[in-house]
Amino acid sequence: MKVFKFGGASLKDAESVKNVVRIVEKHKKQDLIIIASAMGKMTNAFEKLIAEFRGQTSGVAKELESIRKYHTDIISKLEFSSDDVHQHFESHFRKLELYLEGMPADDYDFDYDQLVVFGELFSTTILSAYLNSKGHANQWTDARTLIRTNNVYREANVQWEKTEELCQRAWNSCKENGMKILLTQGFMGHTRERNTTTLGREGSDFSAAILAYSLNADSVTIWKDVPGVLNADPKYFSEAVRLPRISYKEAIELAYYGASVIHPKTIKPLQNKKIDLFVKSFLDMDAPGTQIDSSTFSDSLVPSYIFKVDQILVSFTPRDFSFIAEDNLSELFGLFAAHRLKIHLMQNSAINFSICADYDKQKLDAILQSCKENYEVLYNTGCELVTIRHYDQETISRLLIGKKVLVEQKSRSTVRMVLQDA
Ligand code: ASP
Ligand code: MG
Repeated sequence: MKVFKFGGASLKDAESVKNVVRIVEKHKKQDLIIIASAMGKMTNAFEKLIAEFRGQTSGVAKELESIRKYHTDIISKLEFSSDDVHQHFESHFRKLELYLEGMPADDYDFDYDQLVVFGELFSTTILSAYLNSKGHANQWTDARTLIRTNNVYREANVQWEKTEELCQRAWNSCKENGMKILLTQGFMGHTRERNTTTLGREGSDFSAAILAYSLNADSVTIWKDVPGVLNADPKYFSEAVRLPRISYKEAIELAYYGASVIHPKTIKPLQNKKIDLFVKSFLDMDAPGTQIDSSTFSDSLVPSYIFKVDQILVSFTPRDFSFIAEDNLSELFGLFAAHRLKIHLMQNSAINFSICADYDKQKLDAILQSCKENYEVLYNTGCELVTIRHYDQETISRLLIGKKVLVEQKSRSTVRMVLQDA
């Protein structure tokens, strides 16, 4: 059995839906689990809708209408006859409207999860019906009958044992119905109380890994709009090249440092069961892409670069001239956690502690406000955090042209630098 994951970019219009069907067609001999995200940039559209709903503004109707039109346009451009697709789409849409007719819940994150997943429900409804019409019978399955989580909305944790049991039950019933394809939504799960949860933005890759793990799949393929895992983001680095094969460990490191190609949580479950992961281009389905497995031999063949821009470097010095020690650190970390500030790099000396994080003015102001009595705080905005895996001196020197190094951290395999224009 193979698990295929199709993200928003691979389902952004009627043409791309047809392309997904061509990919499925090529693999029709095997059992397939298909995980799909919301179409195109629909999750962003839902985020806007949710904000309007929470603010109880008149913008709700307009957002809703544009979401509706986006999907019905795709359905009509696919030009296929299916009563099911209209009926199923309308039934989901009605549930969405009903939720929006109610009052917002106390908890923003709760509302977010109940609403945002309609993007995935619409997308899989359309894809399922279209696949059926092309002779690829599939079992549309609500991911809320598969993935069981705790109730941390927007960042739910998977309850693995229950999830395994639910996935196996669903797959068995799929087989009993004579189906070779189970099709479901990425990104979403459910609590024991049947509330909807999500696994965090871009979480569909992780959903694919969860299903592969639970069903002991042979492999997972993430179909993307890039030729595989690249050694740098081509947006910042014109000479980016594809990495033909890397280890799970390398993939985890790259994702951890911020390479955006695979959701960081995806790798671990696959590594535990030694399930191969492929990252391939949906635009060139026969190209080899990147293979991720246990073998580490080619990890260090080319350096990889991860750039994070619009960073801030903040340093805290205790006003009472005390050394930086456990008590100051726990106070500062308490503040960061309270303001949900994610730290990308940190460093301390005797009397100061520095962190690098995404620049978010609101969060920064709030943190400064809370700690100004006890700490003198200095900060630089407009920084760039560069991580190089498997670096050599030449690659570093090339990157430093016209830059000033504010912080540098080196291990044997990785160098990380906070840079600013000189
Ligand atoms: N649709 C969700 C998002 O855009 C999940 C995903 O695409 O992985 O974040
Ligand atoms: Mg997406």
